[in-house]
This record gives sequence, C-alpha cells and structure tokens, in this order.
Amino acid sequence: MKRKNLVPLIPELVPGPLWGRSAHRMLGSKAVWKSQIRGDTLANSKNCCSVCKSSVGRMTCHERWGYDDGQSVATLLGFEIHCSNCDLVVHAGRAVKLGYGHIVISHLCAMNQCDINDAAAILKEAMNVWMGRSKKDWTIKVACSLVDRYPELAALPRFVPPSVAY
Ligand SMILES: [Zn+2]
Repeated sequence: MKRKNLVPLIPELVPGPLWGRSAHRMLGSKAVWKSQIRGDTLANSKNCCSVCKSSVGRMTCHERWGYDDGQSVATLLGFEIHCSNCDLVVHAGRAVKLGYGHIVISHLCAMNQCDINDAAAILKEAMNVWMGRSKKDWTIKVACSLVDRYPELAALPRFVPPSVAY
C-alpha cells in the first residue's frame, strides 16, 4: 500500500473495559480541560486537525492512548486535535454503529491513499485488535510529562465514570 501522507490514519478503538475512563469524562466540565488541555492542544495545532490539517468544522480534543498488550497497561500519552472526519475514523466502531460507515471508509481511502478494499481491511484489523483488547482487564497510567503539566490527570487511574453505556 502506497502512502503519500506523512501521518497515516489508522483506527484505534478503545477497548470495552476502558470506555468512559477518559480524561475528558473526568475533567470535561472543568476549566483545566477547557482552557488548559483543550486550549493548549488547539494552540499547538494552530486550530487545525493534527492528522489531515483541515480547519473546517468542529474540532475535537482527542486523547492519545498507548496500549501495552503484554502487560495490559493503557497509558494516556497526550492530546491532539481531530476534525470530525478523522475523529469518526479513529472511533470507527461507534461511527459505523451510528451509520457513518461510508464516511469512515471514504476518509480512510483519502488519508491512506488506498482503495475501498484496503480501507475495509484496515477496519477489519482494527476490529480484531479491539475484540482481543476488550477481553482483558486493563491498568490505566498517565505519562509523567502529562501529570507534570496537568496535575489533575494524576487521579485518572482511579477514576471510574458514574455510568457507562455499553
Ligand atoms: Zn482531520
């Protein structure tokens, strides 16, 4: 598969047991999220999508998580800005369920310079990874550099959302 873009766009679905256990869910209504985390991230990306550089539409402050499959440790690594199309691709499972599968496929094709078959294969692989990861119990960690910058994130490993819709 030939990629012209510097940043290929690959869906990385949040494992089921980790749904809702996010910095946004914990801090979304607080100033530290709105003005600091989201504000800093928007400023860093100059109000454009970090992936496709689009400046159109609503921008989402995306949480970048790393998954250590061997140790079952999920680590919050940082934040980046996503446009609505890139956000749909990254959260492809939910997007397909909500009827946005065609946008996921067409944006995957555009961003990865691939055809529909390749896009479907990328999606299938992401779903396979998600199914495996959803069977495990995960420990949550936050990158030290993030806790240094936003001390409120230190509470994230112990945060359990009030109600999670499965
Ligand atoms: Zn984008």
